[in-house]
Amino acid sequence: MRCKLCSNKSVINTHSRGYLCKDHFIEYFESKIDSTIKRYKILKPEDKILVMISGGKDSSVISYYLKKKGYEISCLYINLGIEDYSDKSEFYAREHCKKYGIPLYVINLKELLGTGIGKIKTKRAVCSYCGLTKRYIFNKFAKDNNFSVVITGHNLDDEVSFIFSNLINWNLRYLARQGPSLPSEHDFVRKGKPLYELTEKEIVVYAMLNGIAYLSDECPYATNATSLFYKSIINQIEANSKGFKISFIRNFLRNKKIFFNSEDASIKKCMVCGMPSSSEICSFCKFWNLKKEIFFNSV
Ligand code: SF4
Ligand code: ZN
Ligand code: ZN
Repeated sequence: MRCKLCSNKSVINTHSRGYLCKDHFIEYFESKIDSTIKRYKILKPEDKILVMISGGKDSSVISYYLKKKGYEISCLYINLGIEDYSDKSEFYAREHCKKYGIPLYVINLKELLGTGIGKIKTKRAVCSYCGLTKRYIFNKFAKDNNFSVVITGHNLDDEVSFIFSNLINWNLRYLARQGPSLPSEHDFVRKGKPLYELTEKEIVVYAMLNGIAYLSDECPYATNATSLFYKSIINQIEANSKGFKISFIRNFLRNKKIFFNSEDASIKKCMVCGMPSSSEICSFCKFWNLKKEIFFNSV
């Protein structure tokens, strides 16, 4: 197929602009990030930015682009202690930051908490406590080190599948907190997702065209992740109804206020770490059975 803008050979069929050649695709991709940052007020000129890097495609691409664009960024990588996967992903995160001159902080979960993800006897699903742990550390690290915003590599497919699964399960609390930009409140540092309107396929092609290396292996626990199941359903809907993903997400944002989070009104401070919590002890301190606060400003 030919690029619809210049009739050169196309490299991709984008979800919102159709077939594009290499140059027009890169232009489209980068202007989509810029417009997402502007539309959802993700970054301010004075921001001290922390990017969560995993060694995978999404965080590698967004850190590459923000650095290229001249933003002052640092990255944080958490080694989750998941067999070979974590060591490989740490290698990619380190190489990426070295190549593009981005300051990198590394936290090793085994050193911090005594064990890694997947090694704990619990009824809770591995991805559930892994997500809880990562979210807590990212936020607490950013707070302790005075970062004003945390950037993650969540993309359109991640967001649609997350909202879809939470709608199916009527998790109103999670739905109320979803979006491309979440304000800073109750000791939660502001969060932003500049890849919010770009698909996984587009991110893979952008990485390839720009020579951005990343770990393509899946986490061994991902095979059990329900998000993969929801993503396959969503891709089937998109194939039958082009534009479904973007209209789903935009309509969600338009109607998000109906998912008011009543728990926000009764937010407390965790007795162990002082972070916001809906109960006496926050879920991170409860899960890891912590007796005192962890400070990250000496990392
Ligand atoms: Fe953690 Fe699950 Fe993601 Fe693996 S797939 S990194 S266990 S959330
Ligand atoms: Zn073109
Ligand atoms: Zn706590």
